[in-house]
Amino acid sequence: TLAALGIDIGGTKVAGGVVAPDGTILATARRATPGASVSDTEDAIAAVAEELAAGHDGELVGVGIGAAGWFDRTGDTVLFSPHLAWRHSSLRKDLTARLQRPLWVGNDADAAAWAEYRYGAARGADLALMVTLGTGIGGGIVMDGRLQRGAHGVAGEWGHMRVVPDGRLCACGNRGCWEQYASGTALGQTAREVASTSPAAAALLLERVEGQASRLTGEDVARAAYDGDPLALELVTEVGVWLGQGIADLAAVLDPEVVVIGGGVSVLGEMVLGPARARLDRALPGRGFRPGPRIVAAELGAQAGMVGAADLVRNDIVALRATP
Ligand code: BGC
Ligand code: ZN
Repeated sequence: TLAALGIDIGGTKVAGGVVAPDGTILATARRATPGASVSDTEDAIAAVAEELAAGHDGELVGVGIGAAGWFDRTGDTVLFSPHLAWRHSSLRKDLTARLQRPLWVGNDADAAAWAEYRYGAARGADLALMVTLGTGIGGGIVMDGRLQRGAHGVAGEWGHMRVVPDGRLCACGNRGCWEQYASGTALGQTAREVASTSPAAAALLLERVEGQASRLTGEDVARAAYDGDPLALELVTEVGVWLGQGIADLAAVLDPEVVVIGGGVSVLGEMVLGPARARLDRALPGRGFRPGPRIVAAELGAQAGMVGAADLVRNDIVALRATP
């Protein structure tokens, strides 16, 4: 068979899977992402790979690695990562030495975009964009059946579009980036701000963290929204509105057919997508006179990254075998 290993390295977790050619996941493994040093992160990747390879060794054609970093076009070097320690790091060389298998290495959201195009919500689309809402906002572009990586490999980093002049500081070094307002981290940040300035309004949220506003995370808010907490619902709606506004801006640049929303926050489904669509309807440039994109949830959910990375390494290998 042509099963491949796919590994998704996000800001908080390393998640791997053995993925069959039809996109089916045969086994999974995960670790927390130790993000403070490059070698710790690589240790976690190797541990996940070894755990999964142990059960499927003979079947694996290669390993696809989608990581939350900005890669050069070759995939050899991680130029930068806002949330992890990579700075001009030779990830491919390090992992080739450790894993001794054919590798595809690239951005996590690019891998997710590819998975949704191949197997999910963007199947058959001429121009599909991926927006992952997690630690940050990741992005990917599939156009005319190909993943588009840009002149230097860093296309689709729209988490770092400036949406608020002089807004919140971002790990990329700028202020006011989109991911400061519409990611899982942003959801937590706004909740902490509200809870420390108006604890009475945030009483239900504060119950979840023994009254300590500084401990609130995006996940706490998501759980509270599920339980119907009105403040949490309002905060989630706000994220959805920021999402729709950003998509209106992406539509001005690229005119996509579909925008697929993935990452941890996307499990909230219509709570986020409803407000995003409503905002897009009111913010799309030329609205009323032109079609806009569809906004849909990732069909592969949180597993899009691993599935896409596995398929991308498989494609590389098939292409190599076909060259005489
Ligand atoms: C990074 C992206 C990454 C995303 C993951 C962003 O800050 O720029 O490369 O995909 O975080 O959440
Ligand atoms: Zn930024």
